Parts: sequence; C-alpha cells; structure tokens
Amino acid sequence: TTATTQSTAENSRESDFIREIVAEDMRRGTYAGRVVTRFPPEPNGFLHIGHAKSICLNFGLAQDFGGVCNLRFDDTNPETEDMRYVQSIQEDIRWLGFDWGPRLYFASDYYEQLYAYGVQLIRDGHAYVDSLSDAEIRAYRGTVTEAGRPSPYRARTVAENLDLFARMRAGEFADGTHVLRAKIDMAAANMKMRDPLLYRIRHQHHFRTGDDWCIYPMYDFAHPLSDAIEGVTHSICTLEFENNREIYDWLLEKTQTPPRPHQYEFARLNLDYTVMSKRKLLQLVREGHVQGWDDPRMPTLAGMRRRGVTPESIRTLCERVGVAKTNSRVELSLFEHILRDDLNFRAPRLMCVLRPLKVVLTNYPVGETENLEGDLWPRDLAHVKDGETRTIPFGRELYIEQSDFMEEPPADFYRLALGREVRLRHGYVIRCDAVVKDPQTGAVVELHCTYDAETGRGGSQNRRRVRGTIHWVPAAASIPVEVRLYDRLFVAPNPDDVEEGKTFLDGLNPDSLVVLSQARLEPAAREFPADTRFQFERQGYFWADPVDSQPETRVYNRIIDLRDSWGKAQDSKAQSENGSRPQAQKPSQKPAAQDQNPQAAADDSSGDRRSKLDVREDARAADPQLAQKYTYYIETLGLAPEDADVLTGDIGLAEYFEAALATHNAPQSVANWVTNEVLREIKGGTVADGAWSPVYLGKLVALVDEGVITANLGKDLLQELWTSDEDPVAVVEVRGLRQIQDAGALEPVVAAVLAENPDKVAAYQGGRTGLLGFFVGQVMRKTNGQANAPMVQELVKSQLER
Ligand code: ATP
Ligand code: MG
Repeated sequence: TTATTQSTAENSRESDFIREIVAEDMRRGTYAGRVVTRFPPEPNGFLHIGHAKSICLNFGLAQDFGGVCNLRFDDTNPETEDMRYVQSIQEDIRWLGFDWGPRLYFASDYYEQLYAYGVQLIRDGHAYVDSLSDAEIRAYRGTVTEAGRPSPYRARTVAENLDLFARMRAGEFADGTHVLRAKIDMAAANMKMRDPLLYRIRHQHHFRTGDDWCIYPMYDFAHPLSDAIEGVTHSICTLEFENNREIYDWLLEKTQTPPRPHQYEFARLNLDYTVMSKRKLLQLVREGHVQGWDDPRMPTLAGMRRRGVTPESIRTLCERVGVAKTNSRVELSLFEHILRDDLNFRAPRLMCVLRPLKVVLTNYPVGETENLEGDLWPRDLAHVKDGETRTIPFGRELYIEQSDFMEEPPADFYRLALGREVRLRHGYVIRCDAVVKDPQTGAVVELHCTYDAETGRGGSQNRRRVRGTIHWVPAAASIPVEVRLYDRLFVAPNPDDVEEGKTFLDGLNPDSLVVLSQARLEPAAREFPADTRFQFERQGYFWADPVDSQPETRVYNRIIDLRDSWGKAQDSKAQSENGSRPQAQKPSQKPAAQDQNPQAAADDSSGDRRSKLDVREDARAADPQLAQKYTYYIETLGLAPEDADVLTGDIGLAEYFEAALATHNAPQSVANWVTNEVLREIKGGTVADGAWSPVYLGKLVALVDEGVITANLGKDLLQELWTSDEDPVAVVEVRGLRQIQDAGALEPVVAAVLAENPDKVAAYQGGRTGLLGFFVGQVMRKTNGQANAPMVQELVKSQLER
C-alpha cells in the first residue's frame, strides 16, 4: 500500500521537501507505514489565512499518505484562552474542508501525564527547581556572545527538587517564586538550550481544567510531549521554531523510546496589505478598528467566509504558494487572481445599480411592462452553464449608474450624455433628450430618454452599432439593497514596516469600507439560494452578508472587484504626484451627481479612465498616423471603438498589435489580448520596455483560438513568459500542455470528482442542475485547466445521469 499512497501524493499535489521526508520515512518503514500529523492552534484568537497554510499542509499530508491528522488545542496559557476560540477554530477548519474525525485533543488533557514527565526528568537529574526571579533568570542566561552562568539553585538535590515541585503543584507558592527548568548547558551556543523553563506558577483559572492546576507547562515542554503522547510522526511548524528543535529532540530523547516524532519547519505565509499576528488582529477587534473577528476585511478565515471568499480559493492559494524553507510575502494580487478565477465559474451574472440615477422613457406607454431575457453566464462559459437565462422586467422607468451619465462629456465618453445613445444591457438603445435638475443644488436627478423599439432582441435594428453598453435595473421591480464595498484594510503592502514613532495602525486604509444604502438589484436575485455568489455586471463579485442580510432587507458584500482598480488608482496617483499628467479634471466632466466619499470615485474606474482617455486623445490629435490607425481599426478591422481607442493611444502599442496580427490574423481576438493581458503585464509602462516578441503573442493567441490550450492557461503562460524570449508553441509541446481532448483520459478524473462530492451529486440529482458548473470547475482544476471544457461537461452530464 505504500507504493499506491505515494503515487497519489505525487499525482494530486506537487512534492515539496516535507513530502519528500515523509515519503522517505514510508520507504524506510520508520513508523511502520504510519503518518500522523497534527494542527496545534492556541485557542487565543481566530484562525487567519496563514493558519490555512498549516492546516492544508498537515491535513493534506495525512490525506496524501493515508494517515491521520489530529486537531490539538495547545491550551497552556490560561490568561488568554477561551472556549469561544475553540469553537470558532473548529468551525473554520471544517469550512476549509478538513476533518479530524474523533481526533480532537487538548494539551490540558495531558496535564497529569506531563507532570509525571517533569517528575521523571527530576529523578533522572535532568531538571531542577530554580528560585531566581524572572529578571535574574534573564541576566544569568548571558548573551549570544557570552555564555550564561549557572543559577545557584542548579545544584539542588533530587529530593529537594521533588519536594519543591510537589509543593509548587500543591499551591504553596506565589506566582513567579519558582520555576522548573531543564538542566542542559548554560554555555550552549543556542540560547534556547541554556536550561529552558519547563513549568511556571500561575494561579489562574483555566477554561477547561478550572482551578485544578496552578502550575502550567511551557510550550517547549508541552508541545513535544503532547506530540509523543499522541503518536505523532511528523511535527510540522513554522520557521521561527527552528531553534526550538534542539529542545524538542533533547526532551524526547530523554523521555521516549524510538521511533519518536521529529520536528520540521516551513515558511509562514505572509500576505500583502494585511497583518497576521493574532496579537495585532486582537488589537484591531478590541479597539474597534474593525467590527469583530469576522469583519469581512479581516484576514481571518471567519472574516473571509463572511465576505464570500470560497474555501476552494484559499486551498488553491496554499497549494500555489507551496511549502518552502524561506519566508516571503505573497502578493495579494495572486490571491485575487485565484479568487476571481474561482468565482467566475460559479457566479451567475446579474445587474445591480450601486448609485442610482432615474431614467424615464418618455415614449414608453405608461403602466405597461414587458419581460426581457438576459444570459446568466457570459458566452465563454455558456457551454458549461447550459445557456441559462433570467427575465428582466422592462418598463417606462429605470435606474442607471450615476457615473454612466455625463452632462458635458469628452468625445470618447461612450456612455450616456445629452443627445447621445447608449445600449441598455440585454435591452434597447436609448437616447437622452433632457436632464432634470434639482432646483436648489443643480444636481442631475433624472433623465428623460426615448427608446428605440426596433433595437430589442429580434428587432430589425437589433444589431445596430452603438458605442457603449451600460447596466440598469427596472425602477419599480428592482430590489432596494445595501451594498458594502470592501477594500484593503491597510494602504501599504507591508503594514508592519512602519517609520519611527508610528504603528501598524497608522497604515489603516480609511476607505476600507464604503456603504451604499440606495443600491437597486434585479428582481431575479430572489430566485437564487441566499448563499449564491453573483457577478454584478461591471461591478464585481458579491454575495448576501450571512449575518446582516434578511430576505426583506438585503445586504450585499463585495467579495472582490472585477479588475485591479486599486493598482490603477495608485498608478494614476503616482503619475499625478510626479507631475507627468495633472489629475485635475475639467469641471464640465464631473459625473452627474458627486459622491461625497472619496472612495466612491476611486472605486469607480471612470474618473481614472477619463484622464487616460484624454492622454490617448491628445496623442491622436498630435499624430495623424495614430488618428488614421484609429479609423482603420474600427472601419476595416472591425474592432470595437473602445479597443481601437486603447490601441492607438501610443504608437508602440499599435505597432505591437499589428505585428502580432501579422502572425495570427484575428483582429478582435488579438486586440482583446493586447488590451487586457499585455497592458496588465506592462503595468503602466510601454511595450518598448522589454516586451515579449509580438510574434510570440500572435502564436499564443492562435494556440488559444485553435483550442490547443485553454484561455486560462494562455493567460498564465503569457504572465510567465512575458519577461523571457521563449516561444509558446515550443513551451506547450515540451511541457505537454495541450488540452486533454481524450475522453478516456478524462473519464477517471470526472469519476473521482463525483466520488469526492457525494452530497453535491445527490443535490444535482435532486434538481440542482446549476451544480454542473461546480463539477466541471473541479475537473478543470484537477487537470490544471488542461481539459477541454465542453468535453468535460458532456462527460460530467453523462456520468451524473447514468
Ligand atoms: P500568531 O503568531 O499569529 O499569534 P501563532 O503561530 O501563535 O499565531 P498558533 O495558534 O500557535 O498561532 O498556530 C497554530 C499553527 O499554525 C502553528 O503550527 C503555527 O506554526 C501555524 N501558523 C501560524 N501562523 C502561520 C502562518 N502565517 N503561516 C503558516 N503557518 C502558520
Ligand atoms: Mg504559537
């Protein structure tokens, strides 16, 4: 069985140094084929995403090698620990998708055994009771360059030590008067080995053992012995415990017979724009900087769960980050990328207007309505999602987004303006004829428009080209909702890196939460289960807040936006600070109604977009060649005006696009890749700063268009190869990245996914056919996105309907 469990490990996850150690122990039979790991949280706070890495590693190892993983609460500090944390930790681990079965343990269950080990160490001459004060103990310990001095109490006899230790336990002494110490070496190079403390006196009530004990074991004593008591084989902890390993080994050598557990250290997970220390998280909660441990801005698992983050995306992050031996920070954008990828598959699309502006269609009959139909899934997912649609009531009054209207817009504002036309998503083309203003404030409060009945689905003018499409909701039928826009809790990537005299609290982002209480949502939202994650078109991914949302008073959390608006806003801020382009807007360009909250403007990309539009427009005005290309791209190549605009803001980008087109003649497709992926790669720079060859880009797009690789894989490759000079065709061949189009190869993967999710299979068979996408997503993940999705869908369906 060793061989088979090993090969599962190799198939399902990439190997790492810890998996290699475990595999080697399996080969050698060190623990007779047993693998026992543990996750040992201290119940003094909620779990955070860093803990998730340790959970995925410990439980994942047990799964991969056919072993078990214990959940052990390391409850040896009565001052800070609490049953409430014990409960939240269990809930969070289950939510992440792991199960300890009956193996729930507490270090406090072992207090009697641990005490007996203390007595044994004293008897064997390996421990003594010291009566120096804390300060003296510190002074006697020496420094890194200087050996320590032995305590005058080090020479106590075994009998004296046994007596004092028993009286410590009996409660005869006050806190701090005596400690039990290991007798090792006061001159050891590793300071931790200079007679480490094993027990201290604390007259404190413990949440589990009550007042039974007034001496409590130290981590370095309790942890290794708890591992040994539970028969743990591989005790995995984070790098800061590297120096504690010597004590771990010393203690277990003195008390255990082999085989005994061994400790291995791996790098902590640190994520940008957040803090991970429980002490700091507790401070944020206590001082009211957030609304609780489960505040959706917190990096806690409870906060992320409430926000709407999926456990799958956290597990994927942990796998992608891998297990290493050096500490590093993980870019938040990696996590966001994984999260968007996951949500994209599971989130049906609806429309929600965050800051409504009323529109009256003056030529639509009063009192009449009709039902429009809208796709729930975008075209590239339609094959997975069966082309499901929802109905959207349409009538005389609607709401649109305030920022989708401008009174005096620049030439390339493609949304609504007086006298201009725009298409309503899934609906008609409308033209704005009049603007109604508040007589007091002058703010635009209503638009009078006319609609063109021939531009609806099936209408003779349905295909008429209009420059922009905007989202909207019907006025009467839409649901009033509160929307909470969450942003990063800290402004800097590393909030712990602060100037003299400041603390991490100075780096809190004042705009991390914006509440919009007037938002309006499409009525179709009522037809979905309460825990559905939606994409609100053009806005981001949202779900109903599990705590505050009620069927009648709905509250939606933004899980994540669609694009990295933060990065863009920072870029343009930096630009304006450098003076390269003044950010001041012409007064006439202000959106219809100004939001008082500065974040409101930052979260809507229009402010930023407009200034970039200006830059490109100026470039075309100055360079007739660019102006000519602009017209050519639209009229001859048939590109959407928005894409033509982006491509012709700078001659370098236009030439890059054309060179790629020469390799792969599919204008809109290449344009999409350039305007989305390439621009993301060059991050505000230009293609001149060392870009990947446009020939390679053309080849890459061709690979995707021809179905040799999936679009997602294509994007990953572009990111990876961008700074290289590698040919994507060669990379795809050498690494065997072609899509798996072979049903025989995919069938077992599909079968495995179904076998792992019996509850979801049952739900599907009970009518929740929307789960099809979930199964397909899982298969795609297992094949690293290499499976041919339409084929996977067919296979899933046929296996489910068998
Ligand atoms: P903090 O330092 O935030 O207070 P902790 O390490 O004291 O956390 P524990 O409850 O003792 O919290 O942690 C339980 C387990 O989780 C330990 O094995 C610890 O090494 C691991 N762990 C804690 N933080 C991280 C992290 N950022 N990345 C990976 N593992 C972590
Ligand atoms: Mg700890």
